[in-house]
Amino acid sequence: MRVKIVAGNWKMNKTASETAALIDEIIKATAGTHVEVVVCPPFTSLKDAAAACTGSHVKLGAQNVHWEVSGAYTGEVSAEMLKELGVTHVIIGHSERRQYFGETDETVNKRTKAALAAGLVPIVCVGETLEERDSGKMDEVIVRQVKLGLTDLDVGKVVIAYEPVWAIGTGRTATPAQAQEAHALIRRTLAEIVGGAIANSVRIQYGGSMKPDNAKELMGQPDIDGGLIGGAALKADSFAAIVNG
Ligand code: PEP
Repeated sequence: MRVKIVAGNWKMNKTASETAALIDEIIKATAGTHVEVVVCPPFTSLKDAAAACTGSHVKLGAQNVHWEVSGAYTGEVSAEMLKELGVTHVIIGHSERRQYFGETDETVNKRTKAALAAGLVPIVCVGETLEERDSGKMDEVIVRQVKLGLTDLDVGKVVIAYEPVWAIGTGRTATPAQAQEAHALIRRTLAEIVGGAIANSVRIQYGGSMKPDNAKELMGQPDIDGGLIGGAALKADSFAAIVNG
């Protein structure tokens, strides 16, 4: 039985002073859930967020991590720095990082290894663009991202987020059947790499315009184990409605 995991990717939203109030509301609105709940605010809010999450069921994630422990990497943050703040999860390889900041499968792999070495749970994002889907390359892209992103590491400790790029922030959600097809492909690919038992234990979130009105059906698919939520994670009521089903 895979425990469902719903994570809110706040992206570049909410200042440090706005963070605690939203987390307090989320904690109250999701009390008693059996779903693993994670909030991923910007780096600048993590300290306040950690204080707000303390003693609650809500876990704290970051939105990126560098692969080195320390050094001359201006603008980057290491896994140890995140750990010290109380971070337990980290999003890696989000399509916005791949699109705008030059993230590659190789850097995703390095970041994921660093996260695991520090004991963080990596949420590794994969997903095809509309052009790739329309030109019949969806399977090839997803298989490549999974295999290269997860090379030589403990796959059983990773969470994967399938996020079709064309569905992120667009209001255009994958149908439950489209999402299930991609999730099943990811699980088959995992089984090829690490065998069926571990593949069946790995949680695969869906992300891309997930909202309270479509979340239940998406998360009801056999290979969909939760959601990575962008826009709807910025309001406690919509985020909690997704968590609470
Ligand atoms: C995301 O950025 O991970 C995401 C899924 O965004 P949205 O829910 O806004 O499409």
